[in-house]
Amino acid sequence: MSKLDGKTILVTGASRGIGAAAAEALAREGARVVLTARDGKLAGEVAQAITRSGGRATAQACDVSDYAAIEALVADTERQFGRIDALINNAGVIEPIARIADSDPAAWARNIQINLVGAYHAIRAVLPRMTAAGGGRIVNVSSGAAIRPLEGWSAYCSGKAGLHMLTRAIALETAEQGIRVFGFQPGTTDTDMQVQIRASRMNPISQIPRGDLIPVAHPAQAIVYLCTQAADDLSGQEFSLRDEAFRARIGLGGV
Ligand code: NAP
Repeated sequence: MSKLDGKTILVTGASRGIGAAAAEALAREGARVVLTARDGKLAGEVAQAITRSGGRATAQACDVSDYAAIEALVADTERQFGRIDALINNAGVIEPIARIADSDPAAWARNIQINLVGAYHAIRAVLPRMTAAGGGRIVNVSSGAAIRPLEGWSAYCSGKAGLHMLTRAIALETAEQGIRVFGFQPGTTDTDMQVQIRASRMNPISQIPRGDLIPVAHPAQAIVYLCTQAADDLSGQEFSLRDEAFRARIGLGGV
């Protein structure tokens, strides 16, 4: 029996990058995965690839910044599969990359609306259902930027800092209700987001050569771990893939 047999897991931002790799890894462990992104076609292609290799996956387009859309997706998933055992709150954007004095107010607000409000939307939609079902897991994909300011990334850093606090707030409010919640910082991972970052030439992160970036399989492995009971005692905390003790615990070698 695989670690996640019989579990239904919703992954936001699953059309590419860390979300797609996490959905594939979760499905390999037996979970039924529901993939979502604004580009439903691309998310559908990832779901089809999972199905072709023997996993169980469906996909639906959804913009997490639209509460009605994510509520409808969650309700639909519950109707089809009975319950949602875990939410991987992974959808995110880096833009606008600009110094505060030069930034576009609408673009700045849009970042917060996706990275922080969008994550809250998904949590708000799943939490009452998880509580009624007796428990569930939420993994909020955070960033080192939640605790470290970086030039040109004020929107991204502020949104991820808010998400970091949201993880702690969920833990405070749900400790008695069987909800396990984790913040997870993947580290600089080789995805399209890093292509945008390199092109910006804005801060030291943009100077990291592609060859030094983390492969998506590593954060995917961490997300699988956080979806298993082995992670229960870590609930309410945020972990970085750069942390040696955490890497050892999830079975990854040194950085
Ligand atoms: P990515 O390759 O750019 O993928 C982002 C995913 O989020 C895509 O599937 C995208 O699909 C989706 N998305 C964006 N806006 C959305 C919205 N409004 N509604 C629904 N889905 C949306 O980025 P990634 O590197 O895999 O990042 C995944 C997560 O890891 C993000 O939260 C990011 O902040 C975090 N992270 C990444 C790194 C890194 O170095 N890569 C480091 C730390 C943290 P659509 O565009 O089709 O919507």
